[in-house]
Order: sequence, then C-alpha cells, then structure tokens
Amino acid sequence: MNVVLFGPPGAGKGTQAKELAKHYTIPHISTGDILRANVREGTDLGIRARKYMDKGELVPDEVLIGLISNRLSEPDCVSGYILDGYPRTVPQADALRGILEQISKPLDAVVNIEVSDEELVKRLSGRRSCNCGESYHIAFNPPQKEGYCNVCGNDLYQREDDMEEVIRQRLAVYNDKTKPLIDYYTDMGLIVNVDGAGSVESVFSQICRIMDQYK
Ligand code: ADP
Ligand code: AMP
Repeated sequence: MNVVLFGPPGAGKGTQAKELAKHYTIPHISTGDILRANVREGTDLGIRARKYMDKGELVPDEVLIGLISNRLSEPDCVSGYILDGYPRTVPQADALRGILEQISKPLDAVVNIEVSDEELVKRLSGRRSCNCGESYHIAFNPPQKEGYCNVCGNDLYQREDDMEEVIRQRLAVYNDKTKPLIDYYTDMGLIVNVDGAGSVESVFSQICRIMDQYK
C-alpha cells in the first residue's frame, strides 16, 4: 500500500497518518517531522532547513529530494509507505516518480484531504506538538493532562510556524506551489478526495475505505 496523504497545512495529514501507520503496519514518513528532528539535533541539514521553516517557506527541492530518496530506500518501506508533507512542488513530484520507479513501489493513490481555510487557521493556531511526533489541539483534540503528551509524557509546545502570521504565509505557499499537484495527480488518475471537515474518526474511516482497496 503506497500512498501520499495530501492537503494544506493543518488538514490533518499527520494526525491521520499516525493512526493509519499503526492500522496498516507501514511507516509514516513525514518530511516535516524529519526536518524538525534535524533542527533539534543541530545537524547541517537542520541548520539549513530552519531558516526556511520558521518563515513558513519551503526548504529547497534538492534537499528534500535527497532526503526522501534515502528514506524510501530503507527496508521498512518494502511493504508500503504513507507520505505526509511530500511532495510539495512539481519538481519534487517528478523526482518521486523516478525514485518510485527505481524501487518498484509506484503510488496507489494520492489522498487529498479537503478543509476550508477558516478551519485550517483554527486547527493550526490551536495545535500543540510533542517532540515524539504526536500532536494535539487545545479544543478539538486536547491531551489528557493539559500541556503534556499522552504518549511520552513530555511537555507540549507551539511550533514557531504555527504563529498566526506564519500560518498565513504557509497557506499562501501551499496555494502557489503545492496545490498545482492536485491537477498533476488528477492527470495521473491518482487523486482521491476526502472531506476533512469531520471528526478525526470520520476522516479516518473515509481514508481506510480507500486504502483497503490496495491491501
Ligand atoms: P497536518 O499534518 O496536515 O499539518 P495535523 O494532523 O497536525 O495537520 O492537524 C492540525 C491540527 O488540527 C492539530 O492540532 C490536530 O489535533 C487538529 N486536527 C486534526 N484532524 C482534525 C479533525 N478532523 N478535526 C479537528 N481537528 C483536527
Ligand atoms: P509540515 O510539518 O509538513 O507542516 O512541514 C513544516 C515545514 O517543513 C514546512 O513549512 C517547510 O518549511 C518544511 N517542509 C516539510 N516538507 C517539505 C517539503 N516536501 N518541501 C519543502 N519544505 C518542506
């Protein structure tokens, strides 16, 4: 089962991908999570990426293409993968096609999670994240103990790029650079639209109905 979870920032890709990865026992590959881990560890990649991430800009394509090529070559991807946050530009999508051809793991579907801009701003401004990769929402999906992760118990924090002005910039970048991929994947016959406005559970069942076809 080889899928891309597609959609604007805040659509619920990470939330869904984590549950889907458990349900189908395939890896959840979030380029945002990988980059943030590099920022925390202070690697060369992290230092380079941070300049873009804090401003809500995209990290350059060549960096992301190398990163995703390495990650998809790891052994845990043999039974499939869920991509979250990649591809975000046409050059990234072109590169992905080449990489997937080489490893003989072509995409089954690109699941496009649709959510209105107004709802996205609410979701992103209320998001609280944990370094372990979990994320919550202060109103829609609060942790059991306020301020602490249900899974690892560590402190939750608000991402730099979840501040109001950066959110607007990220949505503008999405509309300009990433949204054109909907046409790109529609032309390839891969897009499946999902209504992302409902509860986490209802979005999850919609996506499972799609993914079950590729088991
Ligand atoms: P993305 O990975 O697409 O940027 P996230 O999965 O991190 O988005 O979700 C963004 C925020 O919205 C988080 O705070 C999350 O808890 C919340 N959220 C996710 N799905 C839903 C949903 N279906 N309804 C309400 N809030 C949601
Ligand atoms: P995300 O966690 O998916 O919201 O990504 C957070 C930030 O990481 C983005 O705003 C970008 O700065 C960077 N990023 C993540 N994935 C990509 C990508 N595929 N291409 C470029 N930048 C990315």
